[in-house]
Amino acid sequence: MVLEMQKYFKYFQKNLFNPGRLNYLILYVTSQCNSSCRTCFLHESLNADNDLSLAEYQRISEKLGNFSVLLLSGGEPFLRKDLREICALFIQRNHVDTLSIPTNGLLTDEIVKVTDALAANFPRTVVSVNPSLDGMREYHDRLRGVAGCFDRVIETIRALERIKEKHRNVQIIVNSVVQSDNIEELRRLCDYLKSFNLDYQAFEPLRGDCRDENLKLPSDRDMKDLHQMIAAARKCRARNVFEKMVVTGSLRYIQKIKEDALIGKNWPVACAAGKSIAVIYPDGGAALCELRPVAGNLREHDYDLPAILLQVSGQSGLREQQTMCSGCTHICFLNASLARDWKTMFKIPFYYFKK
Ligand code: SF4
Ligand code: SF4
Repeated sequence: MVLEMQKYFKYFQKNLFNPGRLNYLILYVTSQCNSSCRTCFLHESLNADNDLSLAEYQRISEKLGNFSVLLLSGGEPFLRKDLREICALFIQRNHVDTLSIPTNGLLTDEIVKVTDALAANFPRTVVSVNPSLDGMREYHDRLRGVAGCFDRVIETIRALERIKEKHRNVQIIVNSVVQSDNIEELRRLCDYLKSFNLDYQAFEPLRGDCRDENLKLPSDRDMKDLHQMIAAARKCRARNVFEKMVVTGSLRYIQKIKEDALIGKNWPVACAAGKSIAVIYPDGGAALCELRPVAGNLREHDYDLPAILLQVSGQSGLREQQTMCSGCTHICFLNASLARDWKTMFKIPFYYFKK
């Protein structure tokens, strides 16, 4: 338990004393996609032919120091044939300790092959694979525009469960996009997934300008109900009381902020976008976050992400960003922002004990 306490305080210490240092990178490794989801907010830029090459990623990596989390997105990241090499590059050169790979789950064999290899070659790195499911079979296939999609994702999850038995550093997190018309579907899905060996099912409200303009955000009430349901279904694997407090307290605090955001409340912390977290698109465009305009293209700035971020985030203060972005529920940015806030260290235990 002492070890867990040390880890907790070290985590905050690292972020509190280095507030401007990049610690989380969202890397869109390809614009290619084999799905056509109605919820997609990148639909206009998909399937272009100008992805950065591995050699270009090497140049980006050289300009970055060590950082903790690399989220590889797309398009569909597993369509990228050199995904393994890209991950290896950032693990070896930048000492990334967590890889997070959201996927539509269609390429079962490739997903299994890459996950298995990464987990075996880098046992100290967490390899978190996040297949998407937005409802049960008929609904999910319709929303994703791919017949047989649901069954394929389930096959992928089952295959990942076998990989997880081999490697302790593999995590399976199912991502579900929540909008006003799939609340019942998600209730059924959550129930269905209880028999799977998942680490978590994450509910994220719709974001950005999605392909289907008729889709609407869920209400805060629906979001609250889903959060309660997932908390009840969750198998907490905490090894001691302190770890349980951290996991449960963080979850409750983050859920509360997201529910508040849906009724237009600001986050209790300034957003870390462009400071400790940033985005790189497949063509080299760099942005503070996905909901803000591209700040510059790495191909035109000597592949120097920190230089682009410094230029842009220096122009707009954190306080200004916080006011301008009320309603934001982007979990990656919320996590990164809370990690830089000393009050969060005490709010987590508070939310654990709060009834
Ligand atoms: S949401 Fe993801 S999987 Fe779906 S079309 Fe967009 S990029 Fe592809
Ligand atoms: S609050 Fe949300 S929209 Fe605003 S900068 Fe942060 S991540 Fe982007």
